[in-house]
Amino acid sequence: MTDQMRLLAGDCTFRFDGTRDRLQRGHVVILVKPDRTVLVHDADGYQPIGWLTRPDGVTIEHDTDGFSLTAHAGDQRLSVRSHATAGIDSFSVSEAGIPVGDCPSCAGSLVRTRGEVRCLDCGDRYGLPAGATVLNAACPDCGLPQMRVERGETFDLCVDYACDSLSAAVRERFDAVFDCPDCDSPLRIRSPDGRIFFGCDGYPDCDTSFSFPAGVIVGDCECGLPRFRTAGGERCLDGTCVCDRPSSTVSSSRSE
Ligand SMILES: [Zn+2]
Ligand SMILES: [Zn+2]
Ligand SMILES: [Zn+2]
Ligand SMILES: [Zn+2]
Repeated sequence: MTDQMRLLAGDCTFRFDGTRDRLQRGHVVILVKPDRTVLVHDADGYQPIGWLTRPDGVTIEHDTDGFSLTAHAGDQRLSVRSHATAGIDSFSVSEAGIPVGDCPSCAGSLVRTRGEVRCLDCGDRYGLPAGATVLNAACPDCGLPQMRVERGETFDLCVDYACDSLSAAVRERFDAVFDCPDCDSPLRIRSPDGRIFFGCDGYPDCDTSFSFPAGVIVGDCECGLPRFRTAGGERCLDGTCVCDRPSSTVSSSRSE
């Protein structure tokens, strides 16, 4: 983890030029996050007296007289000048996540953050497929957490793609199970770059393909393809299936 949070503290004059110009002075603590977000805190409450979220630039200068900081985002500008320095330091920080177990390679803590499981100590990371839930169960082969993923049915797999491949599991279950609605050739499971989709076996004569919805199959559509229950509702494998259109749209398009 190389991300550093800078921390500057002291008796400072703080100036903000933007929607509402302000000049304040006090003993404050200033945080500068790895994404450049600047927060100026005084003694009260949770709210900073000034901040800029991910500004275009931050400049920190430090000399024998103390420190100064300027940050700007568009026409907003925040500047701090110290009169007396209480401290300047930096600390390693990481994104915080939900604890999901221990790292098998270094015994550090694993957390689930947006879209991945990562070790806070060694930095190993495992990207999660869309909609995956991390389970309170360890992989019997490597000790990493397992995840639950819905792709047609429910799969419980290791979060490490190299240990348990979701695309291999989906292929084993759904390859050539359904037929192409355009040419009746089997629909094959393809995953050239991590994406999983159904592609017609008749390719290149037939280029029909459907991305694999993140949900479980709940029945058959009138068009012959399976229907999926997804986070966004129930739908046909074919995202453009006429059966999923509101009936008014169907009748109006027919009358045109
Ligand atoms: Zn680790
Ligand atoms: Zn594993
Ligand atoms: Zn086809
Ligand atoms: Zn359909």
